[in-house]
Amino acid sequence: MKFDCDVVIIGAGPAGSTIAYYLAKKGLEIILVEKKKQIGYPLQCAGILSRHIFNHNELPDDIILNAVNGAFLHTQNHILNVKKDHEVAYVIDRIAYDEFLLKRAMDAGVNLINQKATDFDIKDGITYLSNNQKITSKIIVGCDGYNSKLSDSLGNVQSNYAASQMLVEIDENDMKSFRKSDEIINNYVDTYLLEEILPGFIWMIPIGDNLYRVGLFSTHSHKRQDEILTGFLNDNFYYEIIEKYKGFIPVFSGNNGIVKDRAILIGDAAGQIKPTSGGGLLMAFDACRIACKYITESVRKDDLDILKGYQKEFNKKYSKEFNYQFKVQKTLNILSDEDLDYFFLKLKENNCEELISEYGDMDAQSALVKEFIKRGLIFKIMPTFLFKKIINIFGFR
Ligand SMILES: Cc1cc2nc3c(=O)[nH]c(=O)nc-3n(C[C@H](O)[C@H](O)[C@H](O)COP(=O)(O)OP(=O)(O)OC[C@H]3O[C@@H](n4cnc5c(N)ncnc54)[C@H](O)[C@@H]3O)c2cc1C
Repeated sequence: MKFDCDVVIIGAGPAGSTIAYYLAKKGLEIILVEKKKQIGYPLQCAGILSRHIFNHNELPDDIILNAVNGAFLHTQNHILNVKKDHEVAYVIDRIAYDEFLLKRAMDAGVNLINQKATDFDIKDGITYLSNNQKITSKIIVGCDGYNSKLSDSLGNVQSNYAASQMLVEIDENDMKSFRKSDEIINNYVDTYLLEEILPGFIWMIPIGDNLYRVGLFSTHSHKRQDEILTGFLNDNFYYEIIEKYKGFIPVFSGNNGIVKDRAILIGDAAGQIKPTSGGGLLMAFDACRIACKYITESVRKDDLDILKGYQKEFNKKYSKEFNYQFKVQKTLNILSDEDLDYFFLKLKENNCEELISEYGDMDAQSALVKEFIKRGLIFKIMPTFLFKKIINIFGFR
């Protein structure tokens, strides 16, 4: 059978442009289909990437807006301060990053078509476009984000959290009193836990000049999220909202397939996003690296069975961490504001800020949870009546 190209990729977000670049570098013929004329808009990202980004993808200096060394973690009445003596994360200009990744792919020979993909035949490798054109390819890669059309073709059921964000200018003195700290430190992020939005949380990401990306994800509608964020800002700051953004964060499901016939999914389309933080870029980039290996071999050997190795390797690498993060989420779901306060007070009393500073990692919580278990701290910091429920969630004996 004669195909128009080796691989069609749907979506020129970070995942699509990255896998397109990797495959073009391997000498495959790639068509990238993107429905937006201006990629990256509207912004739907807090733009914070852990320092491990450099193990996963290029990140040019001029895209980094700020570096992060630590965090103030808030409940209604307590604050924990965790920090490292090195940079732990970077705040990026996400739109410029999407543009950089797309340009890199096109410079490597990727052919961009600005159309919406409307339907697929994943058995025969056909992508139908909104201008009635169709493209045939050996493999179709779905990097089309949340509510992925290609994921629908695999028979998956997708669900998402709504997420809202505002670009806000905040008075410096208000920030000091919010953090109960005299020093105003621009390389710290803030998170705020509130019973109503668990397992989500409010984030404040400093991008410089008293400007913060303030957002949250939760099970609420965007309208309710707007009310919650406005209430949070009114309670704590004098502020000015400069812009507002809305988006969705997919919920990972182990029941969904990411490979079928000639189709594979990467990034948000595959639900590859951390359940506790809603961060998706690093995992998507890692999935691109894994997928590239299997797609290249599959095309070269003309053997679709090889693609299944991608799902196997991804699950092997991430299923344990997903499992931990879902347990952390389940635990958060049963906590009230009073429990959160109690939990933070006990963390402070047991000098856990240092432990969190040492073992905490925004990409993976299993090491920290294990350390709490190993040191018997998990029982010291939890309200007694929650012991049984938490024992059940984590399966302790
Ligand atoms: C408010 C918010 C804050 C976030 N903050 C962070 C953060 O700080 N750090 C982090 O790591 N992650 C964060 N994320 C998650 C991160 O933005 C996503 O995981 C990431 O964008 C996924 O990249 P992707 O390429 O898979 O999908 P997307 O970025 O969604 O790209 C999908 C692309 O596909 C295109 N497309 C869709 N359907 C079609 C179609 N039918 N035909 C053609 N083109 C199509 C879209 O136009 C888009 O360009 C956040 C998400 C939200 C909503």
